[in-house]
Amino acid sequence: MKLHEYQSKDLLAKYGVPVAQGRVTDNAAEAKQIAEELGGKVVVKAQVLMGGRGKAGGVKLFENANEAGQFAGELIGRRLVSIQNPDGMVVEQVLITETIDIAEEYYLSVLLDRAAQQVLVMISREGGMEIEDVAHNNPDAIARLLVDPVWGLDEFQIRRAVKEAKIPAHAARQFVAMVKALVKAYIESDADLVEINPVAWTTDGKLIAADAKVSLDDNALFRHPEFAATAEDSAENALEAEAANLGIAYVYLGGDIGILGNGAGLVMGSLDEVSAAGGRPANFLDVGGGAQAERVKSCVELILKDPNIKGLLINIFGGITRGDEVAKGILSAFEQLDINVPVVARIEGTGAAEGLRLLEGTQIVGAKTMQEAARRIVELAYA
Ligand code: GDP
Ligand code: MN
Repeated sequence: MKLHEYQSKDLLAKYGVPVAQGRVTDNAAEAKQIAEELGGKVVVKAQVLMGGRGKAGGVKLFENANEAGQFAGELIGRRLVSIQNPDGMVVEQVLITETIDIAEEYYLSVLLDRAAQQVLVMISREGGMEIEDVAHNNPDAIARLLVDPVWGLDEFQIRRAVKEAKIPAHAARQFVAMVKALVKAYIESDADLVEINPVAWTTDGKLIAADAKVSLDDNALFRHPEFAATAEDSAENALEAEAANLGIAYVYLGGDIGILGNGAGLVMGSLDEVSAAGGRPANFLDVGGGAQAERVKSCVELILKDPNIKGLLINIFGGITRGDEVAKGILSAFEQLDINVPVVARIEGTGAAEGLRLLEGTQIVGAKTMQEAARRIVELAYA
């Protein structure tokens, strides 16, 4: 789960990482008011979960609250498009912070090095640009430091890495402290990425996180009830959090054809078939083995909570999961929910004949094969 910049900064501030004063809002009037409270000289920053906001026009400095408020109004509701994210994202909130007088920009991140199976700290003198570009154009400008899972980091190791990254001597002491705080935040919050780009060295000699990006390991979210409110922030996070609470294996994919299947492989296959038929899968959902009618109903209900859904494909291969139980679940969902999108069900294997018979004469379209089911749902959904 990715956190917005303002949420990331709140989290890092708790670990002693210096950040600029600021507040988030979803409207221009409050943006102006916040800017006034902060003295007028502020930065207005789009809170979208994508990189390169600066270049996309989503970050701007102002000298007075009026202009800051006006720009916030223009930004909210606008779609920002960047090189990293050509589809773009709509701005729902903006962060207003005190302007930092930046003299130098550095880079610092903590992430999981899967190959080394260890936590990796990356430090660079070259901040404010994409780290991938630095790695490509100037690989020697990045220092890497692996964190021993048992011993952690010793201060001398951090000092050495900071020096190797050519962080100027004047900023070294504060930089070492920031690395320590970031590693602690990373480990204690079960993050898979914490990145500060740029780390700003101010004209009056302070080190401040001018930007922050935190991504949390979804598999560990159950250990962090403190992030529950954060998780409800977007449709994606809200649905995935609800699924996690219900113990349903669900992944939001952003398309418009809901997919329900039993077994991860069959669900993957269904996603491929729907894509091949010209559809955009909205989710991955594995109802699991031996699913009872009640569970199937919960799954259908969850999928349909996604406002983008235009059709639902159900693909069941009966084994432990019985086709007739699934059919009962679908019918019970139809009775209790207001389902106004087309539904195609392919049921095969144990209890398939009984299942399909139960669906006869209802609004659910039966299909014999997975390919046929995918074609039908795409036709019906986009009709
Ligand atoms: P990103 O483009 O999504 O990574 O957004 P950032 O938060 O990193 O902002 C983009 C750029 O705007 C930064 O690299 C800085 O150069 C600049 N910037 C952001 N905040 C400030 C600030 O408070 N003062 C100054 N002078 N520049 C800032
Ligand atoms: Mn940045």
